[in-house]
Amino acid sequence: VISMRNVSKHFDDFQALKDVSLDVAQGERVVVCGPSGSGKSTLIRCINRLESHEAGEIIVDGMTLSDSKDSLEKIRGSVGMVFQQFNLFPHLTVLENLTLGPRRVLGLSEEDAKARAMTYLERVQIPDQAAKFPRHLSGGQQQRVAIARSLCMEPRILLFDEPTSALDPEMIAEVLEVMVELAQSGMTMIVVTHEMGFARRVADKMVFMDKGEIVETGTPDQFFTAPKSQRCATFLEQIL
Ligand code: ATP
Ligand code: MG
Repeated sequence: VISMRNVSKHFDDFQALKDVSLDVAQGERVVVCGPSGSGKSTLIRCINRLESHEAGEIIVDGMTLSDSKDSLEKIRGSVGMVFQQFNLFPHLTVLENLTLGPRRVLGLSEEDAKARAMTYLERVQIPDQAAKFPRHLSGGQQQRVAIARSLCMEPRILLFDEPTSALDPEMIAEVLEVMVELAQSGMTMIVVTHEMGFARRVADKMVFMDKGEIVETGTPDQFFTAPKSQRCATFLEQIL
């Protein structure tokens, strides 16, 4: 469902992505890792067009990404994103955070949007928090709300950008557990994370980036036991 061909991206004269090619199949789970500044966030932000690429081709769910507004709306409809900092609306309750997109963008009635929101809050195991404001939840609960909010749009692809790195250690597990369940349900996922235990459990494909390039891709088995490049081996030694 995702095909990137020779994609490049500059910020001024700094090249953040260099000739990146990546294919992701329907239902595939891809974990992206690499040093800080290697272009991981830029890569996934190009997939839902939070950033625009300047060279190469990106096809998502049958759509070639271009500048037209039409394609932007369709892309956001099929690709959800979960951020490190949750990005919930602080002045809205959990339930309101979840119903906003379905009502405004998908045109659901309030009743249908609420029913859908409760379904996904149950899926992330916090239906009892629906009436609260985000600041009254723990970090782990807020991130689970953010995941539920993405699911409420019923995307075909979910992107995660270091979803657990802002969390206290005791809350990481509860968020990873929700993500493992999502993976098992067949969701197509690209996850930027350094949680290598999670990667081993769910990844179909590992991607290692360095300096704007995809240096290495492989199955978790191959990736963790026999990395092909020295750069990747060195990185794994540092984080494992
Ligand atoms: P981290 O692990 O720290 O999140 P990353 O691999 O996600 O790093 P990116 O955020 O993709 O890295 O950034 C890649 C490079 O592009 C970095 O050198 C960064 O400074 C630069 N960059 C990213 N966004 C911008 C921007 N909006 N303007 C200028 N430079 C940017
Ligand atoms: Mg990043």
